Amino acid sequence: PSRMAESKPSQGLVHSYSRECVEWRNTEEERSEMLGKPPESLYTALGNAVRLGLSGETLCRQFCGGAACKHCDPVGRFAEDAYAVRGLHSHWVTKTILAMSRPVQARVEELNIIDQFKEQGIRAVVNLQEPGEHAHCGQPLVNGGFSYDPALFMAAGLAVYNFAWPDFTTVQFERLLDVVKVMQFAASEGSVAVHCHAGLGRTGLVIACYLIFVERLSGEEAIAYVRHRRPQSIQTQLQVDSVMDFAERIRPYLVLFPHRAIAWGHRFSYEEHMRRQAAILHGEEAKRLRYLSQLVYAVTQRLLQLRREAASGEELLNQVLSASPALDEELEGWRDSLNNRRCFQEILQCREPAKLTAFLLCWLHQLKAPALSIQNVSTLMKTQTITGGLDAVDRYTSTLVRYMALFLLQLVSDQSDDAEVDVILLFLSALTHQSQPHSRRSDFARYFIKLVDYVEGLLERRVSPELVWRDRADRLHKRLSGQP
Ligand SMILES: [Zn+2]
Repeated sequence: PSRMAESKPSQGLVHSYSRECVEWRNTEEERSEMLGKPPESLYTALGNAVRLGLSGETLCRQFCGGAACKHCDPVGRFAEDAYAVRGLHSHWVTKTILAMSRPVQARVEELNIIDQFKEQGIRAVVNLQEPGEHAHCGQPLVNGGFSYDPALFMAAGLAVYNFAWPDFTTVQFERLLDVVKVMQFAASEGSVAVHCHAGLGRTGLVIACYLIFVERLSGEEAIAYVRHRRPQSIQTQLQVDSVMDFAERIRPYLVLFPHRAIAWGHRFSYEEHMRRQAAILHGEEAKRLRYLSQLVYAVTQRLLQLRREAASGEELLNQVLSASPALDEELEGWRDSLNNRRCFQEILQCREPAKLTAFLLCWLHQLKAPALSIQNVSTLMKTQTITGGLDAVDRYTSTLVRYMALFLLQLVSDQSDDAEVDVILLFLSALTHQSQPHSRRSDFARYFIKLVDYVEGLLERRVSPELVWRDRADRLHKRLSGQP
């Protein structure tokens, strides 16, 4: 029981982010007309080139209107419904994402913009401007090179994230992905205000990408929707192309469970899965699950939770052993939730060990190659010591092996040797894509039991890391090799 307490499931590592509310305000007909044609740039190629070629000062004088820039002092300059926050040219694109022009210090103070933010539930500001940008429009920039002092917002408890990039341009896919991950995280704590200079080009671009990431909108839909909620958004051809490119490139990263019926639904290896996961996860999840699949983690932690709550460990193991590795309708629903919105809720709320086991076994079995390859298995076994073996394989493999040994140890603890061996073999066969009868006699099964025992030893701190053969291991060995 003491060792059970050590593995509290951390829900923080399997965060289910809330969904975004994409609300069109027009009719179905108007919408399909918007979506009927490919999204276009708002500037001509020439207009775009001129803007990019101008010095900051000329740009502000020619295009922004210099001191009279309407983006820097938008009060009274736009339609009445374009001020979701007073003093800022701003629109709620969704219930949690606000697109806005840059706040200007004098107005921040005069119109209590920080208080307005708090009243409207805004908890974070995402700034896409570079320091010193648009220095010649509106009022002079304050210390730090922005039109407002971010420290005032932070002092009031708002988070401020800076992702500087030049006006009228875009950034690489990886950087866009970083921005939308931060937005997703920030949106789970409260509403998020995004701005660049006017809050149209770069701001529209990242919000479109965010909706593609969170709500799986297509590139066309995302652009049309953001422009629908905030006219004139996503200005240049580069920005339009960038949204379309993001929509295309993000797709493989979002597939957690291969499925023929979806785009990019083809099978992948464990390593591929881990590389995709590394790109998608953020914060604590990314840090702590750097080498372990979140899907494996979610299912196994749920099983252990049920194990702790179970009146009878034996009954639970019987259910685990009764799992047949096939997806029924319910498990197909889990698969689709993971693929459609990376939602683990069904898994985390499931009360049936057989279902959880079946789901994990299916996932492991359908990997393009076994999560534990024959080559890695032989490396693990031919090395003199357990730690030596684990050091000799790649990080994904060693983490998975250690983690599964720890999981199995906790799942089977205090149960009969028979049940213990059967459960270990069940998971081993899915991890190695080897059929059970074969594994039962295989050296790897013995190796793994040795490993489980080793982990137990480490947990109980009763054995030195290199001393792995103890009574129980001997007993299990005899059973496996058919000795009395
Ligand atoms: Zn300007």
